[in-house]
Amino acid sequence: MKESISIEAINLRTKKVNGFKILTVFSKEYGLIKLSGSKLGGRSEPFVHNRYWINFGSNDIHSIKQTEFIDHFRNLSTDLDKLYLAWQFAEFIEACSHFHEERSEQIFDLLFECLDQLERNNDVNNVELVNYFLWKLTEFLGYKPNLSMCERTKCSLLEGELVDSWFSFQQGGVSCSACSNKPTSDFVTILPGIYKQLNYLSSIDEFQSQESISDNALNFVRTLLQRYLQTHTDRKIKSINGI
Ligand SMILES: [Zn+2]
Repeated sequence: MKESISIEAINLRTKKVNGFKILTVFSKEYGLIKLSGSKLGGRSEPFVHNRYWINFGSNDIHSIKQTEFIDHFRNLSTDLDKLYLAWQFAEFIEACSHFHEERSEQIFDLLFECLDQLERNNDVNNVELVNYFLWKLTEFLGYKPNLSMCERTKCSLLEGELVDSWFSFQQGGVSCSACSNKPTSDFVTILPGIYKQLNYLSSIDEFQSQESISDNALNFVRTLLQRYLQTHTDRKIKSINGI
């Protein structure tokens, strides 16, 4: 039996099938969900924020009864760089999250916050914003990297000393050369500056730009987090560059 419910969602992508549109959206209430409808006009464009009344059935795709437009991240469609980043956010959310994700509301708010930064803030460093997004996504999906995997009580790394350390993709965290053996596979060596950057991401609750951080460090962190998320999903994420 079908139940009629209302959800608040941001469109990630739209596909046309025989006069119908299939929308992949991320909803506050249920996470990733597919909807179908016709005569949606501009409300079915990507990155439009709508309220939908839907017939909630047992199928994978739920039909739309009514749509109410809430907002649109309008500037994104006129700036290719921004649009590309927005696509990346959408792709990661689609590849990594699920229907009935436990923390759907936080993931929804994260997507909203990052699209809003992208749209309003012309000075935003794109890589910084991506790193913030990816870190928070790992946190809300339940596999935030563990930055203190070292078990010794007096760990040089945790005490802020300059010591080499390793990020293990399988174990999802950092251990240091003073306490642990090198992981046997699937890891990267990280320098103290990178460790500091990961700690910074772990400490902030909303996006903020840092004063001085090199592009190299930012790019390294981006590829590290992308690869880490890829490790945890079966789906291929197309926008990832190799590390
Ligand atoms: Zn250690």
